[in-house]
Amino acid sequence: MNVLIVYAHPERESLNGTLKDLAVDTLTDEGHQVQVSDLYSMKWKAVLDEEDFPERMNKELFNPILEQLNAVKKGAIPQDIKEEMDKVLWADLIIFQFPIWWSNFPAILKGWVDRVFYNGFAFNLAEMQLYGNGPLKGKKAMLSFTTGAPRELYTDEGPHGEIEVLIKYFNHLLFEFVGMEALPYFAIFGPGDMTEEEREVELDRFQEIIKNV
Ligand SMILES: Cc1cc2nc3c(=O)[nH]c(=O)nc-3n(C[C@H](O)[C@H](O)[C@H](O)COP(=O)(O)OP(=O)(O)OC[C@H]3O[C@@H](n4cnc5c(N)ncnc54)[C@H](O)[C@@H]3O)c2cc1C
Repeated sequence: MNVLIVYAHPERESLNGTLKDLAVDTLTDEGHQVQVSDLYSMKWKAVLDEEDFPERMNKELFNPILEQLNAVKKGAIPQDIKEEMDKVLWADLIIFQFPIWWSNFPAILKGWVDRVFYNGFAFNLAEMQLYGNGPLKGKKAMLSFTTGAPRELYTDEGPHGEIEVLIKYFNHLLFEFVGMEALPYFAIFGPGDMTEEEREVELDRFQEIIKNV
């Protein structure tokens, strides 16, 4: 299986960095092919703007979603985006490895989605290529993240509300929207409050999931 890990953490020695390395080693040992998009190391441009469209269809009014379609048709896609699109096409599974920031992706990872999941590539509004007809049908996606808060804060009774609401947003409105199948997520809740032994148990749990992915 071809696996792309889109990894967003600014510190290599972080827990997320460890999870990313563990996934690479485990998948490789299991005989899978792995590529990593290490967004901070790549200095990934996070903001979708006019610079992304060197051959604008409409130079008066900037409409990103229409310009994306036009750029796909003209083959006028910037190299950094094209390289990520090629990795997406290559991958059978994409793992998103990140810390939860403001109950969401870090901005650099959201920017990867904004700039790579183009209209005309990952979905096509005009041709209703969405969900069951999404262009990325047949591929799988998996969230793997850490939080600062313990699990009980992300429940219906807790102050943040149930984490499954967030998961549904990612799985349905992002992965399934483009046709991908969402695998069950992996999360380590509140690792900073855990003992070293508890964190090791979580890392072993992650390795087992990745082995059987
Ligand atoms: C801008 C911002 C917004 C945030 N918003 C939210 C939010 O909305 N909700 C929320 O819950 N949290 C939030 N946080 C907290 C954030 O989610 C956590 O700090 C993050 O998930 C922890 O992951 P990390 O990889 O940075 O962990 P690290 O800080 O690297 O590590 C966490 C713990 O694990 C230990 N550790 C690191 N590596 C290993 C290893 N290899 N083996 C064993 N132990 C290890 C560390 O010593 C530390 O105790 C936010 C943080 C920021 C900066």
